[in-house]
Amino acid sequence: MAQLTIIGTGLIGTSLALALRQAKLKDLELVGTDSDNLSRSGANKTKAFDRVENRLSNAVRGAGIVVLATPVMAMEEVMEVIADDLSEGCVVTDVGSSKKVVLDWAEKYLPRHVEFVGGHPMAGREKSGPENADANLFKNKVYCVVPSSRASSRAVSEVTNIAEAVGARTYFISVDEHDSFVAAVSHLPFLLSVALVGCTSKSPNWDDIAQLAATGYEDSSRLASGDPIMHRDICLSNPEPIVAWIDSFIKELYEVRQLLNAEPEPDRDSVHELFEKAFVARNLWQAGAVNQASRVHQSAVDVPSFTESVGDFFGGSLARKAMESQKKLFRGDRNDRPKDR
Ligand code: NAP
Repeated sequence: MAQLTIIGTGLIGTSLALALRQAKLKDLELVGTDSDNLSRSGANKTKAFDRVENRLSNAVRGAGIVVLATPVMAMEEVMEVIADDLSEGCVVTDVGSSKKVVLDWAEKYLPRHVEFVGGHPMAGREKSGPENADANLFKNKVYCVVPSSRASSRAVSEVTNIAEAVGARTYFISVDEHDSFVAAVSHLPFLLSVALVGCTSKSPNWDDIAQLAATGYEDSSRLASGDPIMHRDICLSNPEPIVAWIDSFIKELYEVRQLLNAEPEPDRDSVHELFEKAFVARNLWQAGAVNQASRVHQSAVDVPSFTESVGDFFGGSLARKAMESQKKLFRGDRNDRPKDR
């Protein structure tokens, strides 16, 4: 019987186990482990796992596949600790929201007789823990697959099989593209949500303002209720792409500000056009009309731009220098890449 071990039996780890159980894969033993007693007992209650182990070494010994489902920054230590207990031919994968650091750690800590293939299901919610796990969480969702340079086609297939078994769509992507693109559509949104809550709740009038906050505020602030450890680890493990997208967002918001601050008064057509364009862009995305074919006409990695004028306004030449090094980074000039990310 093949053994699949999930380290981290929280929301994603236990959802994965529930989904694999639901897929009724033959001859598969699902083993879970977690450093947190409550997560282990919560995972046991879901009946997703055949066994939940207290000790990491007991959980990974004999496993054909190991899935790391802890917060990203914990994965370094986990890889170091399990390295000696991994069997020959074992495939190690993860579900972390940043890929560059995880692939670097895999290269550094995992023995040569195992293979690493990075993974990231583009599915989740703002509630953590096994009690919020859902067997259908990954259905019809994109599952990013980022193989390490040494991964064989067999190892890649093992991971795509998992993704497909839980109902997701596999999506092959390079590590730099992954970290930049998810910074745009996953990491930037929760930071905007956090900034919105920060900006409003710090107002001296918040007690009164809060009485008026309704569905618009609730929708836009939802992601601020996400697990602080998960959000912290995402920011610590993917800072450069996130900063680049924050800069791009500041530029966008600054342009909106300029429109509304125009003298003698805002231009009606320009303000209308702002909303019209966003309305159309969002509708196209929601209708599934933004497809990969359109990428053929674009550069391989989407680098957000940050104009000189806005750079001057907010950060002067230092901000511009930072953006220049960012651009080099995304052009693939790895010599400039910080070594200790
Ligand atoms: P979660 O519900 O908090 O589960 C993570 C579990 O890992 C927790 O029980 C945690 O215990 C445990 N853990 C921490 N350090 C550990 C260690 N050294 N060894 C064993 N277990 C350890 O978080 P999650 O939402 O499932 O996220 C897990 C991963 O999935 C993260 O890397 C995240 O970036 C990624 N992800 C999340 C989402 C999402 O929307 N939630 C979506 C896609 C991917 P403690 O509670 O004691 O820390």
